[in-house]
Amino acid sequence: MKVMKVNLAVATGNRHKLLEIAGLLETGQSGLFSPKDFPGFPEPVEDASTFAGNALIKARALATHIRTASPDHPFFAADSLWVLADDSGLAVDALDGAPGIHSARYASIEAGVEGNAPDAANNAKLLKALDAVPDDRRSARFICAMALLRLTPDPLPDEEHVFEGSCEGRITRSPSGSHGFGYDPLFVPDGHEQSMAALGDGVKSLISHRARALSQCRDFLNSCHTP
Ligand code: IMP
Repeated sequence: MKVMKVNLAVATGNRHKLLEIAGLLETGQSGLFSPKDFPGFPEPVEDASTFAGNALIKARALATHIRTASPDHPFFAADSLWVLADDSGLAVDALDGAPGIHSARYASIEAGVEGNAPDAANNAKLLKALDAVPDDRRSARFICAMALLRLTPDPLPDEEHVFEGSCEGRITRSPSGSHGFGYDPLFVPDGHEQSMAALGDGVKSLISHRARALSQCRDFLNSCHTP
């Protein structure tokens, strides 16, 4: 039986995310690529109003850039070609879903500064915004949207799929824990008493928004490649 070779390009420069996604491809003989395999990738402006919209912007930008590579680029040496991009953040109910798509630059917006803010500044701003909010109204969720594109031969468009995962929880009154990143020290997932940063990577990899979106991606890819 011929094993289908699958190549996947992930639109992230984040090594941690790339490794997390490396476990995704379970089918046949597969290859994982990132923007650094396609020199000159211009980071797109993520100006959509949803996580899914921003994930699609990133995935489409990488797919377009990949098409400028020479036809003998190793990425094209496969039966099935995919591009994956994700966008994620924290939505707090008492703040009408903020920081939402602005999660990475939450504290910069206030300061009028361009670009992302340090995690500590984002966390401090969030605690301040929730200062007067009682414990029973501090519900929140991490959300992750994964956009998966199957590169089709011309004519375009590529086949597009979006998978969303979320992780429900609540925001504490002070940071705790030393694992993870971003808002993990302030987020206690439902069913747990400690913050995500205290629970650590083992628990997080089972319950996180990203893990849940990824598992849908994995199931979908497997369904496409299982004979
Ligand atoms: P990105 O989609 O990886 O760029 O994430 C956007 C922002 O959302 C990050 O900078 C974090 O502030 C926040 N975020 C996303 N995922 C997580 C997570 O798993 N833990 C904590 N914060 C997260």
